[in-house]
Amino acid sequence: MPRLAIYPGSFDPLTHGHLSLIHRGLKIFDGLVVAVANNPDKHPLFTFQERMELIRAAVGADARVEVDSFDGLLVDYAKKRGVHTVLRGLRAVSDFEYEFQLANMNRKLDPEFDSVFVMTGEDYFYVSARLVREVARFGGDVSALVPPNVLAALDRKFKKAGGR
Ligand code: ADP
Repeated sequence: MPRLAIYPGSFDPLTHGHLSLIHRGLKIFDGLVVAVANNPDKHPLFTFQERMELIRAAVGADARVEVDSFDGLLVDYAKKRGVHTVLRGLRAVSDFEYEFQLANMNRKLDPEFDSVFVMTGEDYFYVSARLVREVARFGGDVSALVPPNVLAALDRKFKKAGGR
């Protein structure tokens, strides 16, 4: 049986930090389901369809990576998919407390559920999608932080919105 993991997140938008984690995850697992959270309460910059497309294009043709979306509880999605392991990234100590709570809560909801944490490469440990959005919104250069297709999408988004 191939060992699969779900890599859930907002990916608003995909960054090199996320991509680094996907590449590291593929050294541990046979395949990954990158699952884009479609949370209607949040107001993302990119729709979940746009976020999925950006991930697909950045990852390219790799049969080991599936891009999907989910709403509601992650454990319910994981059960539906029959995958009980999630991949999460740790950047700094600040990520730890939230991830610790989340992992424990998820295991309360589904005892079979497990979380695997991977640390990002040192080049990207400071990169967050929120930071990318904020810098790009004000015209800052994020070309080192995101893949080229995301850079182009950010450019279109903020030009169209007249945010520059
Ligand atoms: P962000 O916090 O950047 O908005 P997401 O909510 O999409 O990102 O995060 C999905 C997962 O990816 C989380 O486990 C998060 O810790 C991880 N992640 C995001 N950016 C990085 C990074 N630069 N290095 C390691 N993990 C990361």
